[in-house]
Amino acid sequence: MKNIAILGSTGSIGTQTLEIVRANKDLNVVAMTAGSNIELLEKQIREFNPEVVAVWDEEKAELLSQRVKDLDVEVCKGMEGLITAATVDSADIVVLAVVGMVGVRPAIAAINAHKDIALANKETLVTAGHIIMKTAAEKNVKILPVDSEHSAIFQCLNGEKHEQISNLILTASGGPFRNMTRDMMRNVTVEDALKHPNWSMGRKITIDSATMVNKGLEIIEAKWLFDMDIDNIRVVVQPQSLIHSMVEFVDGGIMAQLGTPDMRLPIQYALFYPDRRNLSGERIDFSKITSINFEIPDMDNFRGLYLAREAGKAGGSLPTVMNAANEKAVAMFLNREIGFLDITDIIEKCMDRHQNIDNPSLEDILSVEQDTYDYIDSL
Ligand code: NDP
Ligand code: MG
Repeated sequence: MKNIAILGSTGSIGTQTLEIVRANKDLNVVAMTAGSNIELLEKQIREFNPEVVAVWDEEKAELLSQRVKDLDVEVCKGMEGLITAATVDSADIVVLAVVGMVGVRPAIAAINAHKDIALANKETLVTAGHIIMKTAAEKNVKILPVDSEHSAIFQCLNGEKHEQISNLILTASGGPFRNMTRDMMRNVTVEDALKHPNWSMGRKITIDSATMVNKGLEIIEAKWLFDMDIDNIRVVVQPQSLIHSMVEFVDGGIMAQLGTPDMRLPIQYALFYPDRRNLSGERIDFSKITSINFEIPDMDNFRGLYLAREAGKAGGSLPTVMNAANEKAVAMFLNREIGFLDITDIIEKCMDRHQNIDNPSLEDILSVEQDTYDYIDSL
């Protein structure tokens, strides 16, 4: 039996993780968390019987604890609650599937408590990768990628030697606005941006895919997960999303991982690594694929990708500024307070004014995050 804690169980990755739990009787959920969706969380508690749950919204946490009085479950709240869920004694592995850098402290706490991490929450590595990877190495904890590109690379690297890798090649779908100029993107709506061509995901990452900031975050995520220089992490647009990413080795050989766009595969691979299990669902049918195309990413019109890459190259606290500015700007766009192109403009303004801090501590990271939010409020 493997005991898992799921942080963000009500989200897109969280609910797909629970589908895998339903299909595998040797998985047991011991902790779950939500931001505010206590309706769904209550259903999940009644189905999966966790020991501990946490809700970020403190009022909602109170409401939930009333509603589940008949059950033997501890209901916690806020950041402390997330950390309690991330460190529950019985958990062997923590699926980190909250959205945003709110995951940083729970991630570090889980690693310090010797939990392996199935990591979907890329914002955490983008902002605190140097702390997380170092602590994981010290505690002998595995960080298992869930992001599809990083899972693909992880699968391609099975049995390979780090010094024999030349380049990591991240694939990108290009999102709903592929081949559009900035001018054409000026008046796109929230609804347009939420129409991802291939993947069904949470709202924030779907907007990140439309700006291509997502691919920039993934470059930084790959740098930390696979200990690679940003210059050796390439991006290629592959609009059909069949190739999930590739690795080029010193002899010119390239390994690729392919599959239908289904996040359950990378989630399940992380949960059972190094084993593979049967997974129901569609398979690639090569008799129906007419072509797989490649394009060079357009960093001029998709400035977010360029900015994120620059932040990754600079390192220090700049990735935190880029990420925090993006989180806030995306929330404002989803609230219809700003236009689509304002997202990358805000990121650039925030990055331009920042005095970079080398090797930032956790406190530095959280204070840079707050400072970035305050600056955007002042604009
Ligand atoms: P969703 O928005 O669907 O789910 C996010 C989860 O986090 C929900 O459980 C949500 O609770 C919870 N949450 C939101 N805000 C807070 C908060 N302030 N404190 C605590 N919990 C919070 O996101 P996704 O599942 O799409 O994405 C999760 C992470 O995985 C992201 O980092 C994303 O980049 C990454 N990822 C996602 C992929 C996907 O296919 N969806 C693919 C690759 C990576 P509630 O429901 O109550 O709001
Ligand atoms: Mg991805």
